[in-house]
Amino acid sequence: LYGLLLEQADLPAETHDGHRVELLINAGLSAELEGVHSEVGDGVGLYRTEVPFMMRERFPSEHEQCQLYRSVLQMNPAKSITMRTLDVGGDKPLPYFTVTEENPFLGWRGIRMTLDHPEIFLVQVRAMLRASLGLDNLKIMLPMITTINEVNESKRLIRQAYYEVAEEAQLEGHTLSMPEVGVMLEVPAVIYQLPQLAAKVDFFSIGSNDLTQYLLAVDRNNARVSGLYDSYHPAVLKALKLIVEEAKRFNKPVTLCGELAGEPGGAILLLAMGYRKLSMNSFNLSKIKWVIRSLSMADAQLLLDEVLELEHPHQVRDRINRHLETLG
Ligand code: PEP
Ligand code: MG
Repeated sequence: LYGLLLEQADLPAETHDGHRVELLINAGLSAELEGVHSEVGDGVGLYRTEVPFMMRERFPSEHEQCQLYRSVLQMNPAKSITMRTLDVGGDKPLPYFTVTEENPFLGWRGIRMTLDHPEIFLVQVRAMLRASLGLDNLKIMLPMITTINEVNESKRLIRQAYYEVAEEAQLEGHTLSMPEVGVMLEVPAVIYQLPQLAAKVDFFSIGSNDLTQYLLAVDRNNARVSGLYDSYHPAVLKALKLIVEEAKRFNKPVTLCGELAGEPGGAILLLAMGYRKLSMNSFNLSKIKWVIRSLSMADAQLLLDEVLELEHPHQVRDRINRHLETLG
């Protein structure tokens, strides 16, 4: 099998019937970025900037951040690297910035924290922009967006950082390109605000881990209710289908970057719904590419139609497993 996976390294992720899929990687640690050098993937769909923050004893300075981000962007200037602004809170505390809350997953997470601390946000965005001088593969992504106002405020700060860095760059004879800015779709409220969001951002990326947690009201890390946490729940599947249809209607690129994209069954359903960009842990990438290359989109669509009629996640799993067996 390993030989088979290696053989397909240079081949595109394309179904039998000619549907091409972009496969991107999720990363936080530098070791996870190794694959960016290779031909296997199409870039980084989610760079979790909080990971290097969590491994330090204090907030990294703008200079330190800039050096780190530059090393990431330079790994493969030909491939896009989507950097997510700091997504701490919830299950991701910073050792030097303690927050005590009764319901951390419903609390001061992601963009909520950084917009309350614009100095943290500005330092980070400036570092990203400085790091991208002379390159044009940076995209910026905002986590945990709930309201349009958060997007407006974030974009205002990004513009501010851009003018600061661009002015300095110009003095030194460089030009700075304005990166694309996108939002994560992971709070259910945004499903009902897609037209408004589409008018403000360049791309969407679904965080299916959090979207599942918040749609089902199940803590993603609580073992007692883990039986209920399931991205194959019919409501989650319907939400995912609605989002890709809306994204198409508004001509917005949409990626899915939760764990679901790295599961063979999940990837098949997502392709059938219309997703053409999947971002996953790098160790799943070859497997998913193999699944895509073994698949016919027409069959996947028939499977999806059947699955959408089912009532229980376990029925969905059984049905998908039967389909996977036919792929070999
Ligand atoms: C998600 O929520 O699906 C996601 C990709 O982000 P994280 O797992 O880092 O919250
Ligand atoms: Mg998330």
